[in-house]
Amino acid sequence: MAKRYDYLVVGAGFAGSVVSERLATELDKKVLLVDKRNHTGGNSYDYYDDAGVLVHKYGAHIFHSNHDDVWRYVNRFAQWNGYTHRVLAYVDGLKLPIPINLTTVNTLLKKDFDEQGLRDYLQSVRLNIGQIKNSRDVVVSQVGEFLYEKFFKNYTFKQWGVLPDALSPEVTKRIPLRFNTDDRYFGDKYEGLPVDGFFKLFDRMLAHKNITIALNTDYKKIINDVKFDNLIYTGPIDYFFDNMHGELPYRSQRFEFETLDREYYQEVAVVNYPNDYEFTKITESKHFTKQIHPKTTIVREFPEADGEPYYPVPMDSAAAIYEKYKKEADKLKTVHFAGRLDQYKYYNMDQAVKRALELFNSIAAPKK
Ligand SMILES: Cc1cc2nc3c(=O)[nH]c(=O)nc-3n(C[C@H](O)[C@H](O)[C@H](O)COP(=O)(O)OP(=O)(O)OC[C@H]3O[C@@H](n4cnc5c(N)ncnc54)[C@H](O)[C@@H]3O)c2cc1C
Repeated sequence: MAKRYDYLVVGAGFAGSVVSERLATELDKKVLLVDKRNHTGGNSYDYYDDAGVLVHKYGAHIFHSNHDDVWRYVNRFAQWNGYTHRVLAYVDGLKLPIPINLTTVNTLLKKDFDEQGLRDYLQSVRLNIGQIKNSRDVVVSQVGEFLYEKFFKNYTFKQWGVLPDALSPEVTKRIPLRFNTDDRYFGDKYEGLPVDGFFKLFDRMLAHKNITIALNTDYKKIINDVKFDNLIYTGPIDYFFDNMHGELPYRSQRFEFETLDREYYQEVAVVNYPNDYEFTKITESKHFTKQIHPKTTIVREFPEADGEPYYPVPMDSAAAIYEKYKKEADKLKTVHFAGRLDQYKYYNMDQAVKRALELFNSIAAPKK
């Protein structure tokens, strides 16, 4: 007789893997974890390329979090290397810290502001926009037209295919301003990468006798042949409902890798190119993996309209479609939805872990 599973979990990224591990370890549940890709780890997946350099297949993934419980949890499956992320932006031939800080403004404007000087400068150039309606409003009301043009306008156009005034305010709300020389990109309490790679972290997390993994498997191909009691779904919510309310739009990305016969290519892990070239950034993973290797591999990121779903599009029309799917999802009692694709949200890895732990807790101790 075919094996029966307590849970079929769709998607082996952080969301699906964490909940699988918890169900198997804590509740002794039998789990079938399926992913249509040929590896676990979802977008966080890394691997050694042909030259032996550890690279991130779907763009740079730096783990950072302010959640103690999330950090404790991921520490069970990896040692962390203590990396602190730094990003530069190539503007007018200069490489300047991002987020914008004192060094960024002083170098670009050839000034010598102190903290108060920078505050006064920004006060004098910021535009007085009554009600903030879009991403452009967010930026020009904080830093004025000049810095908007240099750092945000063209980068946003490359990233999203539309100018900032067509995007909802939340896209740029995430970019902080620094009035000192702090050039850390995140500034969270915890930050780093697994010493021996994300792929090893996932191997350890999923190495449990109760977990069966099926790769290269779209769940729709097997769902009628597998016996299971509950479904946990971390894939795209519109696909789950056969696109009955239309497709949710996503922005995708093409990654072009190049291995170079030198130890390092650039100063930091990520250099953004807001105004030059077609790509948005060049990432050099050796900076954050801390791997010692005579060669290096860099990757150029080209945003695209079609392809793998990476970024939900922050437009009201997309949010309206998502709400329709959410209503359908709320009607189902034996299906739990989780992860960034299901929620149609940009989640950092720690948020995906946090939500998966919360989902597990609600399964383990359901509210009466
Ligand atoms: C370019 C880029 C850079 C990022 N950098 C960072 C960073 O530096 N730090 C950070 O914290 N976060 C970063 N993120 C976000 C991070 O990728 C997400 O937080 C994380 O992927 C969320 O995990 P998840 O399990 O929800 O989704 P995913 O990792 O996407 O996993 C979902 C899985 O479901 C599978 N799946 C989908 N449909 C099906 C189906 N029909 N059948 C079977 N399997 C299916 C997919 O193949 C995928 O493996 C970045 C994201 C992108 C796009």
